[in-house]
Amino acid sequence: MIGRLPLIDSCDDCGACCMRTPVPPFEPGEETVRSVPAELLQPAHERIAADQHFDPLPCVWFDETARACRHYDLRPAACRRFEVGTDACRMARREVGIDI
Ligand code: SF4
Repeated sequence: MIGRLPLIDSCDDCGACCMRTPVPPFEPGEETVRSVPAELLQPAHERIAADQHFDPLPCVWFDETARACRHYDLRPAACRRFEVGTDACRMARREVGIDI
């Protein structure tokens, strides 16, 4: 845990973790298990083809206006496991310039 920082207990109006995850981080075959439609995967395939899948870009599924995942019900397990208020959460917030 980093220092004695205020608690963060909500993802509302944040999305910092999604701002540095350029493609939905599916495990191999997971998109098939979740029945993700091919058209929703196309933007990720295009980013991978452009060799941008490790760049610090907002996720192709992230809605920057709503600051939320466009396909929340289909999001990968890695996104489901990412916990608000953890050190990784705070680090993501610092990286995108969200205070605390
Ligand atoms: S929650 Fe959605 S927008 Fe955020 S990284 Fe995961 S798939 Fe992308």
